[in-house]
Amino acid sequence: MPDRYAVIGHPIAHSKSPFIHGLFAQATGQDMVYEAIDGGAEPGGFERALAAFRAAGGRGMNVTLPFKLAALAVADSASEDARLAGAANTLSFEGGRIEARNTDGIGLVRDIEVNLGLPLAGRRVLLLGAGGATRGAVRPIARAGAARIVIANRTADKAEALAAELAPHLGGVPLVGCGLAALGTQGAFDVVINATSASLDGQAPAVPAGAFAPGALAYDMVYGKGLTPFLRLARQAGCARLADGVGMLVEQAAEAFAAWRGVRPDTREALARLTVPLA
Ligand code: NAP
Repeated sequence: MPDRYAVIGHPIAHSKSPFIHGLFAQATGQDMVYEAIDGGAEPGGFERALAAFRAAGGRGMNVTLPFKLAALAVADSASEDARLAGAANTLSFEGGRIEARNTDGIGLVRDIEVNLGLPLAGRRVLLLGAGGATRGAVRPIARAGAARIVIANRTADKAEALAAELAPHLGGVPLVGCGLAALGTQGAFDVVINATSASLDGQAPAVPAGAFAPGALAYDMVYGKGLTPFLRLARQAGCARLADGVGMLVEQAAEAFAAWRGVRPDTREALARLTVPLA
């Protein structure tokens, strides 16, 4: 019998994870199946679906919105990245225990450093937004050796509070939180990452042109939407290096796959099949 894995979320029909893990399993010769489970909107739906999947022999789950916080809460142990992010996207079921990880930030860093060829060591990094995606990204970016990190958010208080919470865990990498309106005082950045959900509403966070250093990378975590308002804004500011979050999606999946199966899949085919041109 093949080992069983799944992604759980609500809604879930849009998820690319079964496709990505199917490709990985085929390419690495792993005897496994991977399905999508809708946890529903009812309270307790996630926990019930999780229990049923484990009882049926499930080995691990990816977790997406809105259950990432609940996934950390049900875990018996969690990686430092998951604890600091306050959320988990990968669960492993081992010997009656639930182990939680957060591979989103690692996937982002791997996409930027490996797929896009931009080592983060010594770079000034701006993260727009102070939600779950930023929370998960800060520590892996600091671990990659960023020179400084700024979190800028529409609601300034949230960015300031998040920076104060995470700063002691970054091995001395300077971290500042501020409102988008204060970005003019923060100088220029080598990497500007849109971790807001503004693109999903056809909007862009208000970033001044001066935030993009010459040669900067503008990265929108949203994927599959072509040239988003944020990427358009970056291009108008003179930024020539643009990327969306498809690589982050594929690389976070690869990290989860490696944790479950002990083998790291080549991500190039999944990337090529899922990439939508930025036009
Ligand atoms: P979230 O927790 O809901 O946070 C949303 C953030 O966006 C908040 O900081 C919010 O600011 C800000 N925001 C929303 N609309 C805005 C606007 N019009 N202008 C400026 N700021 C705005 O969301 P999340 O979980 O962090 O996810 C953020 C994005 O990352 C989503 O688009 C998601 O699809 C993407 N993502 C991609 C991947 C991937 O694998 N590629 C993985 C994870 C997430 P306020 O605090 O002021 O409300």
